[in-house]
Amino acid sequence: MDNISKTFCTAPWVHAYANKIKGKRKLCCNSVYQNDHDTSEVTDLEQWWNDDYMKSVRRRMLNGETLPECKICDPNDKKSITAGSYKDMWNEAYKDYIKTILENTTPDGETSLSPTSFHYELSNLCNFACRMCSVEWASKIEAEAKKHENYPLKRYERRYLKADHQNMIKPWQKRLEDELWKSVKDKTLTNIYFAGGEPLMWDIHWKVLTHLVESGHSKNVWIRYNTNLSRMHYKDYDLVELLKQFKRVEIGCSIDGGGPVGEYVRTGLVWEQWKENFKKLYQLRLYDKSRFQIHLETTITTPGLFGGMSELINFALEQDAKIRIHRAGPVEPDNLICPSAVPRSVMDKCIDDIILNVKQKNIRDSNYVIKQLLSIKNKPVYEEEFKNYDIDLRRGKEKVEFIENIRKGLTLKEIIKNSNNQKALEWYINI
Ligand code: SF4
Repeated sequence: MDNISKTFCTAPWVHAYANKIKGKRKLCCNSVYQNDHDTSEVTDLEQWWNDDYMKSVRRRMLNGETLPECKICDPNDKKSITAGSYKDMWNEAYKDYIKTILENTTPDGETSLSPTSFHYELSNLCNFACRMCSVEWASKIEAEAKKHENYPLKRYERRYLKADHQNMIKPWQKRLEDELWKSVKDKTLTNIYFAGGEPLMWDIHWKVLTHLVESGHSKNVWIRYNTNLSRMHYKDYDLVELLKQFKRVEIGCSIDGGGPVGEYVRTGLVWEQWKENFKKLYQLRLYDKSRFQIHLETTITTPGLFGGMSELINFALEQDAKIRIHRAGPVEPDNLICPSAVPRSVMDKCIDDIILNVKQKNIRDSNYVIKQLLSIKNKPVYEEEFKNYDIDLRRGKEKVEFIENIRKGLTLKEIIKNSNNQKALEWYINI
């Protein structure tokens, strides 16, 4: 619509996001929490939807104000990685609904419409234990941390493991499931986003899917996932057959490298099995390209700099699949898994080699992949960003080795050694 403000986004009129770990709501997964310091339990959806904060968000958007909580979508924010693309996605998806939105909003920002889109991070239940993940997001790591004394944990992870926090989030989780389930049963759901832990391991995920298909409402629902793609069946149900019944499907299949290095990064991954699962899922694109968007979701990690990327690039080429690239975080000097931990002279060469491979293979959307890889290269590395980072990095190495001792098998040192990168090996040994 021509007369709509530049900062308008349909999400605060259609979408409900909540995180059971923080016990908090916000506008969408990419927005900034309004009161991150506030640890009190958040109200239920009905109260939140038209409370003073949400009304002010809608008012400010309609007035064309720049919202600090929507920093990531601000095209003027040079640091924004998406520069509006997430907002554009919401506005495109609900463009036919904008007139209804405007007609059903009072001048003070109250809306008579209810949320029909849900992204509820319901559980950390996951069958993988990826090296860059944490107890809050992966039940396998949680179990590992509980079992091993002196397990290296961040302060917020220790807080998460405390009994009082665990007791606090249980009812919160139940409430979120009930809210989501109500929308499914009432057939008001238009969009659902399933992401981590691992949604394919959650009973509620399969319950929602099967109910939507059996009730016939799936043909009205746009479904999105981030998944480790380790499971394709549940009881008698087949994921691919269920997904065929949905209006639109978008799936980011997490994979950070192929072969043994990929399996090292994502403990639990079986590369050969994963490829078969992806091929099966990818047949949905042959079934109907316009309705199914499926891509490889790849995080560049330190081990990934030294192996596994060429297997992944070959696989993407073979499948003609798009790769979406991210950098492993967080960017903290004791996180050795973030590739920025690697010295500039080593990292640049590794990224250049991956870029060369992408260029030579000419995989789908090569230009995008190269641009993302260059953007990782263009970010400061630890040695440029943090003073005395070597002390913290040593702690990071101890953590890596502590976990390697528990899990056994391949080590980061062996990965670097196998890459024949002498300079990198010297760096690692001398941390
Ligand atoms: S403008 Fe961006 S950050 Fe704000 S609600 Fe919309 S999508 Fe989320």
